Amino acid sequence: MNDCIFCKIIKGDIPSKTVYENETIKVFMDVNPINDGHLLVVPKKHFTNLFDLDNDTIDEILTYVRSIYPELKERLGCDGLTLVQNNEQGQEVKHFHLHLIPRYDGDKSIEMKPNENQGASDDIYKKLVD
Ligand code: 5GP
Ligand code: ZN
Repeated sequence: MNDCIFCKIIKGDIPSKTVYENETIKVFMDVNPINDGHLLVVPKKHFTNLFDLDNDTIDEILTYVRSIYPELKERLGCDGLTLVQNNEQGQEVKHFHLHLIPRYDGDKSIEMKPNENQGASDDIYKKLVD
């Protein structure tokens, strides 16, 4: 895609701090990290989001994530890894990417803020299963 910033990064027209790449994927540092070592795993082919991505590429991305985790722990001293992947809502760059966000003991970088005491709604449950 001509105006896609990640396609430009993949072509090398925009520089990136790349930590890994092969024929299918490129992995580079997020320019606005949520935490130290925040990486983006991006397929080289332009897919908009999870729902037009093929299963082989998903498999390759997840295989990469599983293989790199011990190395991230060793190199960064992180204590965990949170994966985030936005589709449409909350998605700034419309080229599929998986956020790898290293987690450190005690960090508050990604806090889910649940609605407390609400319970699992019967109305919503009906919408999901009826
Ligand atoms: P989204 O909100 O689409 O899930 O996340 C897009 C991510 O891409 C953001 O975390 C943002 O910081 C990152 N980003 C946007 N433009 C660039 C860029 O030019 N280079 C790099 N390395 N990251 C970018
Ligand atoms: Zn693209």
